[in-house]
Amino acid sequence: VRDVTAALDLLPEQRYPFPRFDVAIANLPLLRPRIEEIAASAAVQPLSALQLLSPVGNPGKIIGAPVNYRKHFEEALADPEIHHQTHRNDIHRAGLFLKATSSVVGAGEGVVIRHPDRRTDHEVELAVIIGRRTVRASRASAMSNVAGYCIALDMTLRGPEERSFRKSIDTYTVLGPCLVTAEELQTPGDLELSLTVNGEARQRANTRDLIVDVPGLIELASSFYTLEAGDVLLTGTPAGVGPVHEGDVMHAEIEGIGSIDVRVRAAH
Ligand code: MN
Repeated sequence: VRDVTAALDLLPEQRYPFPRFDVAIANLPLLRPRIEEIAASAAVQPLSALQLLSPVGNPGKIIGAPVNYRKHFEEALADPEIHHQTHRNDIHRAGLFLKATSSVVGAGEGVVIRHPDRRTDHEVELAVIIGRRTVRASRASAMSNVAGYCIALDMTLRGPEERSFRKSIDTYTVLGPCLVTAEELQTPGDLELSLTVNGEARQRANTRDLIVDVPGLIELASSFYTLEAGDVLLTGTPAGVGPVHEGDVMHAEIEGIGSIDVRVRAAH
């Protein structure tokens, strides 16, 4: 890991009212040459000595896709603990939902269980980071608005409340390990993804099985609201969701991005 923080000195001066988007992601094309210049001579630090934080510092929106893999839809219908009103429609009827940005943490920060008397489930997902303002994108133009990708855990408290309420608990959106820029990852529609808990296989799928794919999700989201740089689009989780408990370690991998190890902790 190389510290390229000094590249942020190139960001334009901001004053109140501050923009509601992530200024580093919005200025990535400006920052990138400086980042590469600094990285070339920066001291190398071992990853193991660092705590990984969210690759997006100030996301304006966290957008979720409710049931976007067919097998997870069938699983949700069959499980009485998951199956309730909000899961009876697939994505074409349900649309998208929003999570509080205060729920975001990096992989190194871990998940803190809230309401330990109830079930908290893991959901591994491909996360798409929007790179610039996007209004009513077409399928054809959608991908030109992507800054990059990361792994997401869309942690979910089970129960009857609104989905966005149960998913917006502090630490219930894990992003990491880093942002992989769009030109480095050309095939978001064909990526293996998996999740294990304490080494036990739970979820394994390929993003080709998404009901609505990445350009379709960008088209759908931007047909309702403006997407801004740094907005995070969670593309949905495959079958195999299940509970986690204090002390568990979730290991998530996505082809072309890498892996994260995320510890589950109890609230103090
Ligand atoms: Mn999800």
